This record gives sequence, C-alpha cells and structure tokens, in this order.
Amino acid sequence: MKNNSVLIIGAGIGGLAVGIRLAAEGFRVRIVEKNDYPGGWLNPVRIGDFTFPNAGSLITMPQQLETLFSSVGRSLSDYLELEEFSPIMRFIFSDEHEYTLYREAADTLMKNSLFGLNDQQGYTAYGKRSDRILDEFQTKFFSKPYKRSLNPFVPEFGFRNLRPGRSGLRVSTRLFTSEELRIIHAFWSMFCGGAPSVSSHFYRIIPAVMQRWGVYLVKGGTSTLVNALVKLFHECGGEIQYNSEAQSIQVYNGSVTGVRLNDNSIRMADYVISDADTAYTCRYLIDSDRFRYSFVTEAQKRTPGISLFIYHMALKTPPVEKQALLGFNVIMPQNLREWERELFSENRLPSDLMFYLNVPDKIDSAFVPEGQGALSVICPVPNLNSEINWPQESYRFRDHILTALQTLFENDLRSDLIGERYITPVMLQDMFNSYQGAAWGFSPNQEKTEVPHLPNQCRDIENLYLVGNGAHPGPFLPAILQSAEIVHQEIVNGRHGK
Ligand SMILES: Cc1cc2nc3c(=O)[nH]c(=O)nc-3n(C[C@H](O)[C@H](O)[C@H](O)COP(=O)(O)OP(=O)(O)OC[C@H]3O[C@@H](n4cnc5c(N)ncnc54)[C@H](O)[C@@H]3O)c2cc1C
Repeated sequence: MKNNSVLIIGAGIGGLAVGIRLAAEGFRVRIVEKNDYPGGWLNPVRIGDFTFPNAGSLITMPQQLETLFSSVGRSLSDYLELEEFSPIMRFIFSDEHEYTLYREAADTLMKNSLFGLNDQQGYTAYGKRSDRILDEFQTKFFSKPYKRSLNPFVPEFGFRNLRPGRSGLRVSTRLFTSEELRIIHAFWSMFCGGAPSVSSHFYRIIPAVMQRWGVYLVKGGTSTLVNALVKLFHECGGEIQYNSEAQSIQVYNGSVTGVRLNDNSIRMADYVISDADTAYTCRYLIDSDRFRYSFVTEAQKRTPGISLFIYHMALKTPPVEKQALLGFNVIMPQNLREWERELFSENRLPSDLMFYLNVPDKIDSAFVPEGQGALSVICPVPNLNSEINWPQESYRFRDHILTALQTLFENDLRSDLIGERYITPVMLQDMFNSYQGAAWGFSPNQEKTEVPHLPNQCRDIENLYLVGNGAHPGPFLPAILQSAEIVHQEIVNGRHGK
C-alpha cells in the first residue's frame, strides 16, 4: 500500500486514539513519546501505595469510547469497566453554602436549598437553553472538520442566534437572583480555564453533557483506561517508542516527510500527526523561518490559557471533614470578581484561593491504603507569561493552599502529612511540553475574539495533522476522541481522493 506510514508525536489520549484507528485500517503507525510512560495528562501520580489522578477521571459521553473500540471490531467492556455515579460534584462557598450537581436536573433542583421560587424558573430556562445549545453544538460543530480559522462559533456553523458572544456571568445574572447560583452557572468555563465574566456562556454544555449521558469512572482509574488504549493500539499493529522526543517536523516541498528526534535520527513518514500541545507544535516543531505558514502565524497570535498548581497529599489518617465532601469538589473564592481580576487581568497569584479538591478514596477506594487518607488540590494559577518565580514561590504557595484547605477539616493536616508532591507550571511545561505551562491549550477567553482551537488539518503543509487539546473540537476526552476520528477520516478520504 502506498502512503501508509504514519508518525504520531505523543502517546496522550489523542495520539493513542488516532493511532488505533489508523493502525486498524492497515497503516504502519508509530508513536514517539518523550516520556517513559503513555497517557500524558491521564498518567496518575503515585506516592508509595497512594494513587493520585491528575486529570481525566470524569468520563462523559461514554459512547465516544465505545465507538472507538467498536470501530476496530472490539467491545469496550472486554477492556475496562465504567461505573456511573451521582451526585457528580459539589461547589462549596466560604460561608458554607453549597451546591451539588446531580445526574438528574430534578434532583439538582430539589436537593439544593439555594433555589428560591424565581431561581427554580431560572434553572429550568437555563437547562432548556443549554440542551438546545448542546444539540446544535453536537450536530453542527463537534463532529465536523472545520477548515477556516474564523471563530468556529460564529458564521461557519450558524450559532449566531444562540449568542455565543454573551458571557456566562451575563447570562446567569439575568436568570438567577442568588449570587451563588449566578456564580456557579457562569463557572463552567473554568473547567477549560476560561474567566466566567468574559468566556462564552456556551460552556454551560458541560453540565448539560453530564446530565444527558451521565458521568462515569473507569474502575481502576485513568491508568486502566490508558493501559486499555495501549493494549488495543498494539493489537492493531501499532508501535510506541518511549523516551523519544520529536525535535522538528521535516517538511519538503510543502509536504511532511518525517520527524527528527532528540537523538538526531530521522523517522520518515507519509503522514505526521501531532498530539503534542498545539501552540508548542506550531512554535517549536515547525521551522517557519524560511517559509511562512498561516496556521503557525495564527497559533502565534493566540494567547495561551492559564496554568495549574497541583498539590497531592498523603495523610496518615483520613481527614475529618467539617462539611461533607464528594470525590470531586470545587472550593469557591470569597470574592469571584476580585479573584478573577487578580488571576486573569493582573496575571498574578490570587490572594483568595479557588481550587478543585479531589478526595481520591471517594473516587476509588483502591487509591488509598486502608485507614489512611489523601487529598488533591488543583489550583488555577497564571501561566509562565507572568513574573512568578516558581522555584522560589512554590513552597510558600503550597503553604498558602494548606492553610486554605485546613479550614475545611477538623484534624491538623500538617501533622498528618506523610507524603506530598506538587507540580508547578514550570514542571507542567517540562513534563508535557505545554507552551507556557498552559493546562488547556489556548485561552478560551473571548476578549480578543480568538479561536480557541486550530483545525485538525494544517492546510499549508500537506499531510500534517493536529489532534488533542488545542485542536478542533477542543479539550476533554470526548472531544479529543472526536478529533482522532476527524483526523482518521481526513487521512482516509484524502488517500481515496475524496
Ligand atoms: C486538571 C485537569 C483535569 C481534567 N479532567 C478531565 C476529566 O475529568 N474528564 C475529561 O474528559 N477531561 C479532563 N481534562 C482534559 C483532558 O485530561 C485532556 O484534555 C487530555 O488528557 C489531553 O490529552 P491529549 O492527548 O490532547 O494531550 P496530552 O495528555 O498532553 O498528551 C500529549 C503527549 O505528547 C507528549 N509529547 C509532547 N511533546 C512531545 C514531543 N516533542 N515528542 C514526543 N512526545 C511529546 C507528551 O509527553 C504527552 O504524553 C482535564 C484536564 C486538566 C488539565
């Protein structure tokens, strides 16, 4: 078969998913991965017998995973077990008010005391509109390749009547009287690193997706999912080369010819697909000194999104909660506007913290040795564009988090600490080559009407493709699996001249 060798940069979920599809189609597929492990963000951190997921625990739209397995003649249930759960997550405010998201909208409405009569109507209206946006998003945007680099929400997909330019906070302020409900219903953009007062209200499709198809955990955690994908990839004939970092994508006469690796060897290939961070791929892997590529220029114009400080704690006893926590919690700042100004406008560490708090043994009891406890904090922080000196700042910041965290527990966390690991934006940049340590690729803030994702096919360089976080249709596992399906389709159609 002609034109059949594929080189994929990165064994993240995107690289593995597209590799599986193409290997099953008869392509010779090799993945080069800079680390000595697969899975990228989905690889958990281990401290002794403790397991701490970094990302990707919440499986939404499980049909996307089922489709990947069935597309190569396998059944997902032969590889892993998914368990649905509800309540899904809890938001906790400093005055101890709380809000719990349940699988069923009716449960969410009935079991949360924040809803007054007017707010109940607001919630119903919010849900109906979110469902409509989700329908349009799914049929018009999610599964379709897009070629132009205009804001995909605007003319090409005909979303204008759903007013994508309105911010989450503007919409929720009109619908709710409770300040907490306003904040929560604007806050979904923060799951992709977007400021609630400027990012599109379209991020409301996140809870809509959760409530429509449910939220699942992989039994055994994210490493079980990664291992299943690696196994399937090998079964389909693919190969993974670890500790191999791509240094540059080789281009000859406008078409890719392969990839140069860190040992200076060149791997020739008919197609190159990058699952590495999109901004990093465009800025550092493509030599644009001699030739101008418009998609590289577009990537350079976009600002990288915010980063994260991740703090995992192993404790000698289970922490005693003042207020009941779930596996997944969002600890809200005292003053949202001030917090948002400090983080997004002033590009500095907010004095008042907001963080995601995961309780690993409530996610999977096997993550924590019996009789002991664990906590994981994922805290939004500025990316490396800011002036924060992380080697100097990280210990002080870890202490700041511990102090904030202590207010939620009865027992002294510091004296119970038996192991810890924190990950700074500098480390994220080193671990995954994410440009400026950005956690979700490009910034989704709408201030500059930028496109949050690039098209999957690079129109200036033949046979070069992008999957994963920064590529269409965006971050989150279902979207990344969809990006893999789109790239697979484009390569197969291109080969057949369609
Ligand atoms: C804190 C957090 C929580 C999240 N939680 C969820 C969740 O619960 N559910 C959900 O659906 N999504 C979640 N997401 C999103 C999801 O985890 C990511 O979108 C997804 O894991 C990204 O996968 P990827 O394959 O695009 O990229 P990555 O996981 O970044 O993989 C890219 C791979 O490329 C490798 N690489 C980079 N450069 C090179 C190079 N030059 N040469 C060779 N290899 C290279 C990297 O080492 C890495 O292995 C979360 C994201 C974050 C940040």
